[in-house]
Amino acid sequence: MECSKGYIEDIVSKKGLELVWVDDCIGTRRKNYLCLNKHLLKYPVFCNSVLVHELQHTSGYALKDLAIDSFQGSLFKTFSFCIKHPKAFWSFIPIDKFKGEWYIDISTILIYLFILLMLVVFISVR
Ligand SMILES: [Zn+2]
Repeated sequence: MECSKGYIEDIVSKKGLELVWVDDCIGTRRKNYLCLNKHLLKYPVFCNSVLVHELQHTSGYALKDLAIDSFQGSLFKTFSFCIKHPKAFWSFIPIDKFKGEWYIDISTILIYLFILLMLVVFISVR
């Protein structure tokens, strides 16, 4: 599976997005920017799944984004990547600043709220 820098830059620009290589998240969409972790290039299969995931996201906030984040991606692969590149753990913080603007990741907040709700339900039925 191909996941070279040139291949990714080509796909992303064909989608009309601007690619930014970062190290403080795994991958994310911020308006028309697609941020990808530069270390992903070392893991072609995971890199490709992150790229496919991020390209499916909308440039704003939509229900579709929540569905993509809830049902797609491997938590195990995500964690193994973060352990090797700890700065990527910032991906789990739902608020961040990028190019002078604040971004709130509603999907992540809703997933946390869901986990919290499940914990409350689990504890209260014991
Ligand atoms: Zn996502």
